[in-house]
Amino acid sequence: MQNVIFHLVLTNQCNKRCEYCDLNFSNNYISENNIERFIHYINKNYYKYWEIRINFFWWEPLLKFDSILKILNKIQAVNIKYSIWTNGILLTQDIYEVLNTYNVEINYSIDTETYFSLLDQKYIDVTANNFNINFIVNPNTIDLSEFVFQSIYDRGVKNINILPIYATIHWDHTTLIKLNIFIVNVSKYENISLYGLSYYEKPTSDIEFLLETNWNIYQDIHTHLWFLKQYESVPKNIRDEIEKESYIWTIKDIEKKLIELQFCKLQKLYKMSLDIAKKLWFQINFMLIDKILKKLK
Ligand code: SF4
Repeated sequence: MQNVIFHLVLTNQCNKRCEYCDLNFSNNYISENNIERFIHYINKNYYKYWEIRINFFWWEPLLKFDSILKILNKIQAVNIKYSIWTNGILLTQDIYEVLNTYNVEINYSIDTETYFSLLDQKYIDVTANNFNINFIVNPNTIDLSEFVFQSIYDRGVKNINILPIYATIHWDHTTLIKLNIFIVNVSKYENISLYGLSYYEKPTSDIEFLLETNWNIYQDIHTHLWFLKQYESVPKNIRDEIEKESYIWTIKDIEKKLIELQFCKLQKLYKMSLDIAKKLWFQINFMLIDKILKKLK
């Protein structure tokens, strides 16, 4: 039996507009009907998997907290874990308590503009094992990064992932030197992880699916290229390959087909996503940042 991860995109909308964001926005939201279908599928099939992870991610999932609540309340599987990726702005005490009740892993993304939202939310137990901060490091605000990092650390956060922006903003020589110094300094703290290109090099043995707001189902190739603003600049032959390889079915087929996928296909797709990432817009920043991170490991 294998593990399976479902990345659920509940909306293509966000309550922020970060300068480095590489997502396209639209007013698509998941329908209640499809939420019900998904719950039905999990409740009927959970025993076929070793472990199921449901990941509410991309754009801002808390804009559809009603759907999250429905899933948490109605799914009956025992072998299930949940995680959410959020900018944290909508995280009220009530929502935090619901997420905690279901032991949802909270991945709270902050940058130099929004770190204060975390500092204000005193009810959050930042020392809990299921609470992670993704600290986005931006060359335009790199001078503030150590101060913000220290504020988060002093707040008591135990798990901090450092995520330098690589795809949408250019790092020049000066900001790369500053990034290097920043990473050297924060690496001395415990429980700090650094994400660069090497993050994409490790295929997992888990089966991963990405369910879009229209509830087409895709094989997740990790970089989710088709959602990005830069997607239009990808040469057509590569786009055709991505779409051919990654699109699977609509949700109405989930029952009969989901279980059939093989790991060999995943390996091929991971390799493809890495190759594409290296070849296209990521290449310069991605490579430079990854070189810094690898040197420090
Ligand atoms: S919070 Fe995330 S999804 Fe929203 S604009 Fe910023 S980077 Fe994009």
